[in-house]
Amino acid sequence: MTRVALGLPEMRRSAASPSVEGRPRTDELIDRFGRVARDLRVSITERCSLRCTYCMPAEGLPVIPRPELLGAGEIARLVGIGARMLGIREVRFTGGEPLTRGDLVEIVARSRAAAPEVPLAMTTNGIGLDRRATALRDAGLGRVNVSLDTVDRAHFTSLTRRDRLPAVIAGIDAALDAGLGPVKLNAVLMRETLDDASELLAFAVARGLRLRFIEQMPLDADGEWARTTMVTADELLLRLSERFRLEPIGREDPSAPAEEWLVDGGPATVGVIASVTRDFCEACDRTRITAEGTVRSCLFGDDETDLRGMLRGGADDHEIADRWRAAMWGKRAGHGIDDASFVRPERSMGAIGG
Ligand code: SAM
Ligand code: SF4
Repeated sequence: MTRVALGLPEMRRSAASPSVEGRPRTDELIDRFGRVARDLRVSITERCSLRCTYCMPAEGLPVIPRPELLGAGEIARLVGIGARMLGIREVRFTGGEPLTRGDLVEIVARSRAAAPEVPLAMTTNGIGLDRRATALRDAGLGRVNVSLDTVDRAHFTSLTRRDRLPAVIAGIDAALDAGLGPVKLNAVLMRETLDDASELLAFAVARGLRLRFIEQMPLDADGEWARTTMVTADELLLRLSERFRLEPIGREDPSAPAEEWLVDGGPATVGVIASVTRDFCEACDRTRITAEGTVRSCLFGDDETDLRGMLRGGADDHEIADRWRAAMWGKRAGHGIDDASFVRPERSMGAIGG
């Protein structure tokens, strides 16, 4: 078993601006392969209320000291720079678990003020959402994706190492009541919950949730992922077809990661994000900010460019935007999971922000 180093302080973090040789003069976040990043993922914490085996180690990630995390004002400033100067069209808060941050409502409200035109969304495990859904909506959050892999309580407990299924379902219902929709469900494909996939789809259809299954990527902290044993999209579709009639309807738009199927003639749909077997790196339009304020151009690229030092060192918005552009210019072509030379990134999913 490969142990994955989680020592966040050892990351390859660069305070200098990466090379912009050959970059055309454009405000947008273009890369060498002609892709333009318009979808911003902001991780706001490494903490989490669950310990999903495909993401976190049992003991959780090393705690990032509070002063090293971006504050609400710093996050909002980056969101504003992204929206006003870099062509960002959607912002999603993630982590770790965003709901573990006490100032989440403030983060949303200040980001809303900094980027009034840009939709704000959140990816969450749903725990605690029942108490905060209305406040988050009032602060300007538009939509949530809730991660839920199974509605079998024993399987949920073993996969997440916490017996919290009822809390997640309460969170989903609160999101629906608050109008944080369309509410999407994200389910990572794992062998131990594959038998539960049909029941999860039935649960989603009954509540009007848009379920998307995601192929597991080699981003688990324990380093257990193996290409030969992972559950593929094809395997899932065969399994779902035993209970549902599925008709392919394609992608919502070319950069949408999910391929969609109509379920039993509709209107319900199910999506499959085949991130490993049918990668969509060619159409990737994401840029990421980690909880410590570095730009990460790809989930699988460990080179990170520090913006926090600039935020705290008196840099103006133009200087910060330029460094962000330079970081994205260096984005790699794709994750290369199937290449013989593939090396897992140092950070696990919870430490990047999925
Ligand atoms: N805690 C929140 C949650 O679970 O929704 C937000 C952070 S989590 C890292 C973001 C998304 O990444 C979740 O939908 C989760 O299922 C997914 N994820 C985590 N590890 C993954 C992996 N190894 N492969 C694919 N998706 C993964
Ligand atoms: Fe936490 Fe989300 Fe990772 Fe699960 S996937 S451990 S809920 S950060």
